[in-house]
Amino acid sequence: ADAIAAIRSGMTETPDFPSEGILFRDLSGLFADAAGLRTVASALVEGFGPIDAVAGVEARGFVLGAAAAVASGNGMLAVRKAGKLPGEVLNESYALEYGSASLEVHPSTLPQGARVVIVDDVLATGGTLTATIRLMERAGWDVVGVAVVLELVDLGGRAVVEAVTSAPVKALL
Ligand code: 5GP
Repeated sequence: ADAIAAIRSGMTETPDFPSEGILFRDLSGLFADAAGLRTVASALVEGFGPIDAVAGVEARGFVLGAAAAVASGNGMLAVRKAGKLPGEVLNESYALEYGSASLEVHPSTLPQGARVVIVDDVLATGGTLTATIRLMERAGWDVVGVAVVLELVDLGGRAVVEAVTSAPVKALL
């Protein structure tokens, strides 16, 4: 209940951003709210059992993922947009609610079999989280949960994500 109140008060909704027809939810206010950020970070990683790392998806997932990692006594795996990581990387392309993109990780960042919870701000069409789950699996890591602050239920992303993992998908709001 605390987490939901913090999300509601720390969120803005902007029509036609970044393009026509998109109602964009921004969580900058939540990120700047000390108590709210702590509450939401803890709620994100709660209930998945033992984990070894929190994976945060660039860029807003970095804020939440790092906070959730610290809150749960773990480190954070940065799931990067393409072209940011040096050396040999795994790459997954995906379609966004607007446009397309790809994500990358270094397969050596975590040990094989590491239990990972993936964190992001918004679940929309599910493309981002589906690509992230594929990256984790290709790297040899075990996705034990997926957690977002906001699920845009009308976009049907949950079914897309649940089609590629048996791990629970949690949305706080
Ligand atoms: P999906 O891949 O599920 O369609 O979109 C989710 C990704 O796009 C997330 O990484 C999220 O940050 C971004 N995204 C999509 N819609 C919104 C939105 O309304 N607000 C914010 N903050 N991010 C969004």
